[in-house]
Amino acid sequence: MKIICIGRNYAEHAKEMNAAVPSEPVFFLKPDTALIKDNQPFYYPDFSKEIHHEVELVLKINKAGKNIAPEFAHKYYDEIGIGIDFTARDIQAKCKEKGLPWEKAKAFDGSAPIGDFVNKNEFKNLNDISFHLTVNDKTVQRGNTKDLLFSFDTVVAYVSKFFTLKTGDLIYTGTPEGVGPVIVGDKLSAFIGDKKMLEFEIK
Ligand code: ZN
Repeated sequence: MKIICIGRNYAEHAKEMNAAVPSEPVFFLKPDTALIKDNQPFYYPDFSKEIHHEVELVLKINKAGKNIAPEFAHKYYDEIGIGIDFTARDIQAKCKEKGLPWEKAKAFDGSAPIGDFVNKNEFKNLNDISFHLTVNDKTVQRGNTKDLLFSFDTVVAYVSKFFTLKTGDLIYTGTPEGVGPVIVGDKLSAFIGDKKMLEFEIK
């Protein structure tokens, strides 16, 4: 399986990164070795001194598709979850400066904790899903899909122009504003609505 992550999909986050709001979706990949499942801890890597949390809603692809039309995109994902797109911000800054690829900063082992999923039919409106992240019980990021620059369907259709989507692939749909550093000992919890879907510790 593969993990596709959408960058700058919330305008306020693009702003806090001093990045332009994109005119088409920006995306990158992580390998399956980035996943952390079952609330297992994240081990702070020794190659970075500035690991940032980015909480994101995640789509789970449920059938293979290529060149999917936007109006049919909803048929290609059936579950929605929540995860963290951990980013080595210090390394990313160097990569950006030199125009190098981002993988070292974004795709390292453990950079994609993933929580529970719910069937998308349980949501009344996919364009009004609220979610948030707490660090040590304090809310640090809060988002709602009504603020997405590119909707779930737009993202699925766009990505499928370049990559065949396969069952089990995950799409991290972008982070709202409020990204920030984590330190060893922090306890992170991610919620969809009021429901805790992911909880783990930084070790
Ligand atoms: Zn992200």
